[in-house]
Amino acid sequence: MTHVQALRCRECDRTYDVAPIYTCEWCFGPLEVAYDYDAIAAAVSRQSIAAGPTTIWRYAPLLPVDPPGESHLPVGWTPLLRADRLAAELGLREVWVKDDTRNPTNAFKDRVVAVALAKALEFGMKTLACASTGNLANAVAAHAARAGLRSFVFIPSDLEAGKVVTTSVYGGTVVAIDGNYDDVNRLCAELAAERPWAFVNVNVRPFYAEGSKTLAFETAEQLGWETPDHVVVPIASGSLLTKIRKGFDELHAVGLLDEKPNVRVSGAQATGCSPVAAAFAEGGDTINPVRPSTIAKSLAIGNPADGYYALDAVRETGGGIAAVTDDEIVEAMKLLARTEGIFGETAAGVTIASLKRLAEEGVVRADERVVAYVTGHGLKTLDPLAPHVGVTDTIKPTLDAFHAAFPDSGEE
Ligand SMILES: *Cc1c(COP(=O)(O)O)cnc(C)c1O
Ligand SMILES: [Zn+2]
Repeated sequence: MTHVQALRCRECDRTYDVAPIYTCEWCFGPLEVAYDYDAIAAAVSRQSIAAGPTTIWRYAPLLPVDPPGESHLPVGWTPLLRADRLAAELGLREVWVKDDTRNPTNAFKDRVVAVALAKALEFGMKTLACASTGNLANAVAAHAARAGLRSFVFIPSDLEAGKVVTTSVYGGTVVAIDGNYDDVNRLCAELAAERPWAFVNVNVRPFYAEGSKTLAFETAEQLGWETPDHVVVPIASGSLLTKIRKGFDELHAVGLLDEKPNVRVSGAQATGCSPVAAAFAEGGDTINPVRPSTIAKSLAIGNPADGYYALDAVRETGGGIAAVTDDEIVEAMKLLARTEGIFGETAAGVTIASLKRLAEEGVVRADERVVAYVTGHGLKTLDPLAPHVGVTDTIKPTLDAFHAAFPDSGEE
């Protein structure tokens, strides 16, 4: 049983009945799910959650839809790994990596799609659709296939080959748009107005976005029901960052955390698409749209829908927002892999490079407990990395050749 009261406008607080809608008719502000937190508090405990499934549905009372049946891909409860070697390289004491590459389609988007799909089925919708920067395409196509729904996935035509293959394989309709993500998104908003389809990040967006909270829920539970001091979160539309913050606050609101969380939230962007970082640096409230050009394509949203709210969350919590270059992104992908054995995609490079920068600037402090969110797998974005890694040497299949090539390799 869900504890949803209504949809509520983030700007003017007007409420709406639960439906596949996403903007306020009065002020065009975004709609968000409003809950009865007292009812949730009465329905959950640390024990009830521990007894639940090892998926995002262990937090079902805090989500806007009842858990789906067993015929759905299991999502979430990904590892939170202590990263001491990475921390040492960054001059930090305690760093954890939330490894969300370990989801069915190897990115955090499985979380939001799982919630959106369950809600779409409840609404009786039969086609799952999305405007995607890549990972959402994978997830929508896969989850629709598993649920026996039709899918329509819209992507920018310059998407990585790896992400086109890992979407098309599921057999849905994949439409490449001659334009950037913001063009794709605009078309999908128009289509959502004329079709009865569930565009997960358009007309079902208020429910979709709630799926991101589970990253905060898992982080706190995996830390023994404590919160980190500081989190570093990649920003595309800004939804994930705002929802991670909301997730920590909700845990306290329903009595699952003893103390009021005081989590500093920092953002990560690529310089080739950094409208939120730019607004943060300028100290203003206006997010000026940009034309993206970066290897971090999954974060390439030039006009981020939740950018303002992400900016607000970072400022309110005393975090920062870094913008990092393509070279720094590649270096950071290698750093994470070399120190911790975790292969994240370009977006993970953005997050780790931003953590490095924020640590150097003293925004992330050496004594803080830090969690970095690694939101997608490196196998999906091999192309930008390929020129920078390779075999150490190529030799003949003889001992002599090996000894000659690696004369000092004898110890241990
Ligand atoms: C979509 C995405 C994000 C962030 O998405 P938001 O639009 O800001 O919620 C982060 N990392 C990866 C890999 C993504 O695909
Ligand atoms: Zn409104």
